[in-house]
Amino acid sequence: MPCPCGGRETYAFCCGRWHAGTPAPDAEALMRSRYTAYALALSDYLLATWHAITRPAAVRLDPDVKWLGLDVRRHVADGDRAVVEFVARSKQGGRAHRMHEISRFVRESDRWYYVDGEIR
Ligand SMILES: [Zn+2]
Repeated sequence: MPCPCGGRETYAFCCGRWHAGTPAPDAEALMRSRYTAYALALSDYLLATWHAITRPAAVRLDPDVKWLGLDVRRHVADGDRAVVEFVARSKQGGRAHRMHEISRFVRESDRWYYVDGEIR
């Protein structure tokens, strides 16, 4: 199956690798894999890649939301910190949504974590 994140590889060779346990090599790969986790309803992966300081107790995934595509606009890494700007498109109840976010990530012990995001 093609990867929901829109990468050129199939799911198994794209986000599937990070979902299977290999650490995502950079913040953009982690961000893509988190988008794909939303699309595939992998809430455990979302929690596992959420930094402890901002991680919610649980992730509630709405089954009515269909994720339609991801457009990564920018990825800037500076050592163990990174910012990824993206637009994620979804549909819910026949209505299209467009989420434009600038997400912050940190790397700890060779793993990247999502910290928080600013909605544009
Ligand atoms: Zn992917």
